[in-house]
Amino acid sequence: MVSATKEENRSSAKRVAVIGAGVSGLAAAYKLKSHGLNVTVFEAEGRAGGKLRSVSQDGLIWDEGANTMTESEMEVRSLLDDLGLREKQQFPISQNKRYIVRNGMAVLIPTNPIALIKSNVLSAQSKFQIILEPFLWKKSNSKVSDDYREESVGGFFQRHFGKEVVDYLIDPFVAGTSAGDPESLSVRYSFPELWNLEKRFGSIIAGLVQSKLSTKKEDTLEQKKRPRGSFSFLGGMQTLTDTLCKELGKDDLKLNSKVLSLSYSSDGKSALENWSVVCASDSDKHSQALAVDAVIMTAPLCNVKEMKIGKRGKFFPLDILPEVTYMPLSVIITTFKKENVKRPLEGFGALVPSKEQQNGLKTLGTLFSSMMFPDRAPNDLYLYTTFVGGSRNSDLAKASTDELKCTVSSDLRQLLGAEGEPTFVNHFYWSKAFPLYGQNYGSVLEAIETMEKNLPGFFYAGNHKGGLSVGKAIASGCKAADLVISYLESSSNDKVLREEP
Ligand SMILES: Cc1cc2nc3c(=O)[nH]c(=O)nc-3n(C[C@H](O)[C@H](O)[C@H](O)COP(=O)(O)OP(=O)(O)OC[C@H]3O[C@@H](n4cnc5c(N)ncnc54)[C@H](O)[C@@H]3O)c2cc1C
Repeated sequence: MVSATKEENRSSAKRVAVIGAGVSGLAAAYKLKSHGLNVTVFEAEGRAGGKLRSVSQDGLIWDEGANTMTESEMEVRSLLDDLGLREKQQFPISQNKRYIVRNGMAVLIPTNPIALIKSNVLSAQSKFQIILEPFLWKKSNSKVSDDYREESVGGFFQRHFGKEVVDYLIDPFVAGTSAGDPESLSVRYSFPELWNLEKRFGSIIAGLVQSKLSTKKEDTLEQKKRPRGSFSFLGGMQTLTDTLCKELGKDDLKLNSKVLSLSYSSDGKSALENWSVVCASDSDKHSQALAVDAVIMTAPLCNVKEMKIGKRGKFFPLDILPEVTYMPLSVIITTFKKENVKRPLEGFGALVPSKEQQNGLKTLGTLFSSMMFPDRAPNDLYLYTTFVGGSRNSDLAKASTDELKCTVSSDLRQLLGAEGEPTFVNHFYWSKAFPLYGQNYGSVLEAIETMEKNLPGFFYAGNHKGGLSVGKAIASGCKAADLVISYLESSSNDKVLREEP
């Protein structure tokens, strides 16, 4: 919580603009405000939360954006503690029961070696390949070379585990977490931890086991006591961003305020208020300007490209930013009477590999939302959250609600025996759900670095840098806030030195 002393000092404190009120921007703003700085968050839309978007209606609760998150990042754990959100955390029932579709049927994903051997999700040959991977990929074999720097996710996993693992485990996993596909995604940018493990250990499995053992040793008693895995909050994921907004207060959050331009104009003498941020305001149709000392940009890069950025009277060229490819995605919520679902499955949800399109399945996957969180629907209903589109089926993502209702009903009939029409349907379309971390993503990161290097007091955060998950977006926002704090402190020190006779 923000302390009273910090509140009193705030009137004389420096001011920071945060652009975008998604989870990364709000986490950054909260950290800056807790540090005693003045913060203004500019949000183009009439609501805060960005890709966290929960709806409560007629006894149903659903999420149209992110459904769950994890707390692997230290920044996330601190944020949840500081916001007092632990008591609102909701852990899914039987979250380890996750399914993959094979031959048109949902099959439980094995979670340990014995279960893998017994499971029919993979052939005997692939199981063998997994068991042998630590021996075949010993570091001393030095199979890892620089040729693999630009490798796709598919190529990387195929080298280690074979094609079937890519088709039946990796393909559905990347479709479910990024709406991408194994061939378009770069392993270096999509799975940097695994990419580094290969460099260190050769074998992915050996690397994972070793790093798990060392984090287990480092875990504090408090962390060991906490339930692990994915979670949401009472009321859905937006509870997190709503809580952050409450902490910030209305005055610090400007909704319907699309940032149009930014300009940096240092006179070389004063380190204060070097930035001017201009935003359009829907309410009075006029643009407004605010002078600030530093800027954290969390708007997607496609939106940054539309802005004008100036530096000492000249335009800063934004054509250095490469085009980012975005994945379109539709999220369809359905409810069915329990008595009409003949084969309901307990657990988290089911992912559909691309190959299963040959068995008539067109969706990417479905979360068993009310199985995970029983308070999300009345007792007599099951509520499902289904994803359609991504790189696999980008045209279908744009289809009408009626067409998508038929697609989803057909898949749920086949997988769960959900008969008849759903009793409720809601459809939300994201034209740019996820940026694709493709082979050219290195040039995107380089462009962000160039902006940060050439624009003093400008920092970029959010899911275009360092990971797509909610946890990674929060960590990125918090890191940017730390950089702003050090930047402002060092600017103040410079100013004092300049003023000394
Ligand atoms: C359908 C879906 C499901 C997902 N599921 C999960 C999940 O289960 N688990 C998980 O960990 N992650 C999930 N994700 C990913 C995760 O939700 C996002 O990566 C994360 O929330 C991004 O946060 P952000 O702050 O970086 O960006 P955003 O949430 O995109 O926020 C950016 C904000 O900037 C604003 N903006 C843009 N231009 C301007 C401008 N000119 N001026 C002012 N404001 C501007 C936008 O309106 C937006 O509010 C999912 C994403 C989607 C779309």
